[in-house]
Amino acid sequence: MQQLSILGATGSIGQSTLDVVSRHPNKFKIVGLSAHKNIDILVAQAKQFDAQYIVVSDESLFTDAKNKVQQAGLTCEVLSGNEGLCQIASLDSVDSVMAAIVGAAGLLPTLSAVKAGKKVMLANKEALVMCGEIFVNEVNRSGAQLLPIDSEHNAIFQCLPADYEYGNIAASGIAKILLTGSGGPFLTTPLNHFENITPEQACAHPNWDMGRKISVDSATMMNKGLEFIEAKWLFGVACEDIDIVLHPQSIIHSMVQYTDGSVLAQLGNPDMRTPIAHCLSYPKRIDSGVSHLDFNRLADFTFTKPDFERYPNLQTAIEACKAGQYATTALNAANEVSVAAFLDGRIRFTDIASINQAVTDSVPAQKLADVEAILALDAEARSLAQQYLLRSAS
Ligand code: NAD
Ligand code: MG
Repeated sequence: MQQLSILGATGSIGQSTLDVVSRHPNKFKIVGLSAHKNIDILVAQAKQFDAQYIVVSDESLFTDAKNKVQQAGLTCEVLSGNEGLCQIASLDSVDSVMAAIVGAAGLLPTLSAVKAGKKVMLANKEALVMCGEIFVNEVNRSGAQLLPIDSEHNAIFQCLPADYEYGNIAASGIAKILLTGSGGPFLTTPLNHFENITPEQACAHPNWDMGRKISVDSATMMNKGLEFIEAKWLFGVACEDIDIVLHPQSIIHSMVQYTDGSVLAQLGNPDMRTPIAHCLSYPKRIDSGVSHLDFNRLADFTFTKPDFERYPNLQTAIEACKAGQYATTALNAANEVSVAAFLDGRIRFTDIASINQAVTDSVPAQKLADVEAILALDAEARSLAQQYLLRSAS
């Protein structure tokens, strides 16, 4: 039995993970589950999966959570805050951790799982964007197994040779990593409509059902930018080794192009339960609940190049990736602030990219030696973003 903790159990990835787990009661046992605010769902999950620990990361809800656990007649231990998250990520009894918190809040608990040498299934791409080198060094030091949940990176992982040598694509005869993206809901929207895009429109992704932050990131293509940076760190490749290909149907989830002309792709219906099941039982395959592709009913596949005028965030992210860690840390922080402000109706859709660019440009080049330095720059970039935000909103 694989003993599992899920950080961010109540979110889209967390719930999809529990859906796969529920199909294999003899393979997986839930140890710990976390939620930030949604205690009702968390307690219901704890009951269904007989969790030993639940963590409510918003500490102000700790007493409420304890009361609800008691009312439900459960015996699980209730923990709170970042400390609680780090605890369920690193318990001796835990084999695997699903890192599915959204944003920078996931960094410390995910690192805690890495430091404890767990199998870490990474959905929380922001953690790697914020501190890629430190993260990868910790994986190497602790012997943790890092498996990519993000569908593109999971696809690339599946298309790499089994003896792939981190950081040496030439040795594996690889020419390019082809990172695919759908282009989101505004692929063909006239550019002069972008100012008036609403949060509801931005969150209505044509192919994927996701949390609100990543949905907006997909609409601005910041998501693909974050994934570009994520790919650099996960596979140890240079920025020049990654090409972005728009594929609006989201059936191909990414590809690896080899020097001999071969291209390996991973295909499937767009449903995160496939990469989740792949990581949960890696290297074996299990049923994920996802319906199989029917090649008699597939629409045509199309491919185009991303247009930076339509997706300025994508260009900012690629340039930040080339500039270095400080730039991607600052960009990630700015983006969390600007997306939250957009979702709250405080700024326009087009302000997201302007704020992100302005913050990234304002942060001087610097070396970030440790996680403390990363978190300090994250805080500085958030405060800069707040200042630009006030200007955009006025
Ligand atoms: P979501 O918003 O649906 O869920 C987020 C989870 O994190 C929830 O359980 C929430 O309680 C928790 N959370 C939110 N704020 C928190 C905080 N401050 N501290 C601790 N916990 C907090 O998000 P999601 O769509 O499931 O995405 C989760 C992560 O997975 C993101 O990093 C996203 O980029 C990545 N991802 C998601 C998808 C997808 O299809 N949804 C695909 C690829 C990657
Ligand atoms: Mg993705």
